[in-house]
Order: sequence, then structure tokens, then C-alpha cells
Amino acid sequence: MIEKTKKLDASSNLILHLTATSDIEQGISVITRGEGVYVWDQDGKKYLDLDSGVTRPVHVGYGRKELAQAAYDQMVAMVYYTPKGYANLPAMQLAERLEEIVPGDIRNFTFDCGGSDAVETAMKLARQYHVDRGDKMRYKVISRRGAYHGVNGLGIRALGTVINMRHAVEPMAPGSVFAESPYCYRCPYTLNYPDCDIHCARDVGRIIEFEGPDMISAMIAEPFQQNFGAYGPPPEYFPMLHKILDQYGILLIIDEVICGFGRTGKMFGMEHFDVKPDLLTMAKGLSSGYSPLGAVGCTDSVIEKMEMFAHLRTYANHPTSCAVAIKNLEIIQDEKLVANAAAMGEYFLEGLRGLTHHPSVGEVRGTGLWTAIDFTTNKHTRAIMPIANLVSMVNRAKEKGVITKLMGPTLEFAPPLIINREDIDFALRVIDECITEEEGAMGL
Ligand code: PLP
Repeated sequence: MIEKTKKLDASSNLILHLTATSDIEQGISVITRGEGVYVWDQDGKKYLDLDSGVTRPVHVGYGRKELAQAAYDQMVAMVYYTPKGYANLPAMQLAERLEEIVPGDIRNFTFDCGGSDAVETAMKLARQYHVDRGDKMRYKVISRRGAYHGVNGLGIRALGTVINMRHAVEPMAPGSVFAESPYCYRCPYTLNYPDCDIHCARDVGRIIEFEGPDMISAMIAEPFQQNFGAYGPPPEYFPMLHKILDQYGILLIIDEVICGFGRTGKMFGMEHFDVKPDLLTMAKGLSSGYSPLGAVGCTDSVIEKMEMFAHLRTYANHPTSCAVAIKNLEIIQDEKLVANAAAMGEYFLEGLRGLTHHPSVGEVRGTGLWTAIDFTTNKHTRAIMPIANLVSMVNRAKEKGVITKLMGPTLEFAPPLIINREDIDFALRVIDECITEEEGAMGL
């Protein structure tokens, strides 16, 4: 039996994801306990977790006994039953609850094991929608450079970032088409908002014409994008994009895997924009990471022509995970965590804006409790700070008891939605110190 105080090293039997061998050789922290917004490692060292488990699912914080109880009760009553030909109560109840809270006209739901699965299922639904209407050639999906939609077969076709993940499994199923992202700070067209006339949205029309309108089933997009560091589009972007897609009968899949369930200070990211998607993907904050769960929602018009959805996954509509999610949504509602994300997000952002005097802080941005600092070595040219310096700041923060992460050219912060001012003040002090130290080391 491995003792509790052991770090993971090269002798371990466990495979980690996206972790360099050189890091493993130096020893990897084992997180053994969590409570509220804090976690502890194998040596008992305490950290403020500014990224909710790093992949950011833990919206309600750690150590919630009510969620463990919900899982226990459901496991004892009825742990599992197939999603084919049978239903279960928690999945039905969760679908009903989601209909009440999701934006737009999304009324129908199915549950998966996580975000990648949800994206996969959404793309299959979109494809089958067209096939069942006799439109059998629509095999292409538009995504955006810089997008992240998970690691499964169809989702990875839409992966516009962490390119090594794509390259590792190519060749892939054909049909991926990429548009540019609305990343105004470093516009891919080197235009300036608002004079650009939202060229990134308009350009999608040109891409569709080139690829063949009757060959494209859907476009997938995150409301706010992780790869550029919690980046939101200009307000005109989604309405313009939706109008173009509608013109060609192309469905809009909105990927709320990160934004959903309060992260951006509204229940869903899409509530910041006046657009009704055809399909919605969700995960992470849906169960706050207490049980693996993803969800796909779609409008009546997507599903009503289908004789049957040609899909089956053993753990779809999983009763235990759905029971946990129902309790988790209750906590989010009862503790007004969406409002807390809005208020604490504003407070955090204000504090981060106070760091713009640093020569390396290019842009501070964020919405709700999803914020980022975009670092640069030159505020005029906006040259990206070398990754080694970003990694070094993440390591400095960890040393000081704060877990954060680098995302593209940024340090990104997405703490549990229960965070308070005192914790944010501590985080801001540590971030400030790390920037000062790193700039000192760089001679900036
Ligand atoms: N979609 C988006 C927008 C995501 O951010 C992620 C993961 O970060 C995924 C899909 C994939 O989710 P999962 O890692 O749960 O498979």
C-alpha cells in the first residue's frame, strides 16, 4: 500500500494526463483532502485552489457531505439502469430541472460521462437531425481556432488548441472546418474592434460558401473561450454568427461545459448574449465534479423528426450522477452562488486591474468568477510572454500556497463559486508578489 505522504514519481503505476515526464521525474503532488476553497497535499500543505480542481469543475467547493449523501442514497436505492428502453427517476428529474434554467428553447436532455462525451453526442444529434430530414451530406462541423471541445473522436476534430492532442491521433474523421476566434486583444486579422465590423463573424459566411453550405451540419462554439484566457466576444458577435448559420440551415451548438452553472456570474454563459442555440453541451459545474457527468440539451425541432436517437452508452443517464447533480443545483440555488460569482468576480477583477501597473500585465479580463491576466513582454506590440515565465509564476504561486494555472498566454483564475473577499485578497497579494518576482528575474 502506498503511504499517504508519497509524491507520484516515475516509479508510479498511474498514467497522468498532459503531464511531462520531466515533471513526473521531479515528483508530482498528490492532493489528499479538500474543504471549501482549500485543498491539502501529501505533506499536509494547504493551498487556496484558484482553479476549482484545475480543470475547474468544483463550483460548490470541496467536502460537501450533502452530495456524498445524495450519491449514497441513490446507490442504495438503484445504482444503475440502462438508458435503452428504460428510464430512471433522477435522470428524468434532472432533465425537468434543466429545462427550467437553460437559456433559449432547449427542452430535451440526455446525460453523458463528461464534457467530451457531451460534445460527441451533440455532434451526433446534429448530424442525425440532418440525415433524418434526408440531408445526408452534412458531415462537416465548423469550429474555431483556439477552441477546446474535448478529446473524443468528433470533438477532437473541432479542437483548435493543444494541437499536439490532434496530431497524436491523426488522421481523424474528415469534416473539420475552422473559423477564426473573436480574440480582439491579438486579433487574428490584425483589425481593431469596433472598426473591424466583426470580421471574424462575417468571415464564417465566406467559409461556409467555400466548404459547401449543404455539407455542414453544425457550428460549435464556447460562449467564452478558455484558450485565450477567459475571453468573451464583442456583443455583436453571436447574434451576427447565428444569423449567418440560420441562413444556411446550420445548427448552432453552444458548449457551456465551463461557463454553465454560474461560472460567468449568470447561470449560463449564453445569457450574456441574445442568441438561442439549437444544442447545448454542459458538464463540470453540473455535478461540481462529485460524480462524472455531462449533458446535452436540444430544441424540439432537433429531436422531433427522429424515429429514435441512434446512440447508446452504458453510463448515459446515470442515476447516481444525476442524483448528485440535482442536489448540486439545489446548493447553487439555495446559496445564491450565481450571484456570489457575479459579485466576487467583480471584486476579483477590480483587484486584478490594480496590477496593470506591472510592465508584463498586458490585459486583465474576465466575466464572473472566470478571470485572466494576459501577459506580454511588450505592452505596445503585445508580444506573448514566454511559457517558461508563465510556468515559473504558477510554481511561485504554488510555493506560496495558491494553485493556479497557465492557459495560452495567460494565468487563469476560476475558483469555486463560494469564494469570499478574504480569500480573494490573499490570492491577489500572492499574484502580485509572483509577478514582481518574475519580472525581477526577467529584468523587466
Ligand atoms: N468543452 C469545453 C468547452 C471544455 O472546456 C472541456 C474541458 O475543459 C470539454 C468540452 C471537455 O470536457 P471533459 O474534460 O469533461 O471531457
